[in-house]
Amino acid sequence: MDQFIQYTPTEVVFGKETENQAGAEVKKWGGTKVLVVYGGGSAKRSGLLDRVEASLAKEGLAFEELGGVKPNPRLALAEEGVKKAVEMQADFILAVGGGSSIDTAKAVAHGAANPEEALWDIWTKKVPLTKSLPVGAVLTIPAAGSEMSDSAVLTNEAIGKKAGINTPFNRCKFAIMNPELAATLPKYQIACGVTDIMMHTMERYFIPESQCEMTDEIAEGLLRTVIKNGPKVLENPSDYNAMAEIMWCGSLSHNGLTECGRGKDFSVHKFGHALSAKYDVAHGASLAAVWGAWAKYQYDEETVLWRFARFAEKVWGITEGSDHKRATEGIERTVAFFHSLGMPTSLHELDIPNPSDEDLRALSMDATQQDTVKLSRIRKLGAQEVYEIYQMAR
Ligand code: NAP
Ligand code: FE
Repeated sequence: MDQFIQYTPTEVVFGKETENQAGAEVKKWGGTKVLVVYGGGSAKRSGLLDRVEASLAKEGLAFEELGGVKPNPRLALAEEGVKKAVEMQADFILAVGGGSSIDTAKAVAHGAANPEEALWDIWTKKVPLTKSLPVGAVLTIPAAGSEMSDSAVLTNEAIGKKAGINTPFNRCKFAIMNPELAATLPKYQIACGVTDIMMHTMERYFIPESQCEMTDEIAEGLLRTVIKNGPKVLENPSDYNAMAEIMWCGSLSHNGLTECGRGKDFSVHKFGHALSAKYDVAHGASLAAVWGAWAKYQYDEETVLWRFARFAEKVWGITEGSDHKRATEGIERTVAFFHSLGMPTSLHELDIPNPSDEDLRALSMDATQQDTVKLSRIRKLGAQEVYEIYQMAR
């Protein structure tokens, strides 16, 4: 087990009708002037936004809105939010939505606390981030795990780049999670969410030589829980108990718990971000489309084969055969599971039917920051290796 720091400070407020506590939570964490950040309209249509704003009003809190966050959220809207937050002298940013709204809220918080700096300079760490505003979240989709994570991702449309920033300032003060709010989700978004949740744990699981019994057991239990309940919520998004399991898994998958003692890899996310930046595809779908190719490229490396075999056994119950055989069966079962959810498991199915060689080279350069960064803790992946994996994923 390697050295680690476990810091997961977000207060979780979980269960039915908890969105009505939003005002009291903001107040508790010191907010008085709140910028409410939301997406393309689902929260408005469902009446959720009204309930949240009523709870802010009930506590005597002033608020304004920043709506219109799109999936793969854009830098430009976050910059607009910064302006608004500065003008109204906001001291709290409240996201109502999923990863896209929460990440935009985090960006607005960083920008508003540092209005003299360009937001993208903060994002790309040209300028160190030393202060931010507090952020809270009312979660409407179990997926990204941003409600408890130290990370946030934005797309800079002007340069066609999707990039994330990890910082303790990204931790929400509180996360309100009512599984009932997810009952209005379209099936495709549920499937994307289930995939992303699994991926956040798997990207911390396939690490060479790692021996962390407790962390492994948590990760495997989480994956089994998602595999059991994912199809249930896809079939019936109003199944409260199943959605509650998925929602809780979503937060635990990305709050750091499943990396204790071993850290993370996250190469598949880099593959996915390059795809989303170029083709504006949904995050979860971008990961499902390449994971199988990535796994087949990496699994038989000597230091990690046993982990793929253990994964097959503990997550899928595959106990027969050599490490090699169990590992490949485990990968196939996982890919088949994504498929059963309706997720693409190739670029073709992601609606990128005929990417040219040039396209794949460009994606590989993007994922590896112009071949300056080697991805992965297994086989090191430079632009050439990433290109080969995209080829396998065609
Ligand atoms: P999202 O992009 O926030 O939302 C996806 C779609 O679902 C939107 O069209 C949204 O519509 C809709 N939706 C959300 N809740 C709904 C509900 N209750 N009923 C009906 N429709 C609903 O989804 P996400 O997967 O949570 O976030 C994806 C983003 O997070 C990506 O940019 C990804 O890269 C990023 N991400 C961040 C982290 C992190 O730790 N920060 C980790 C992984 C991924 P409306 O806009 O109308 O609400
Ligand atoms: Fe993700």
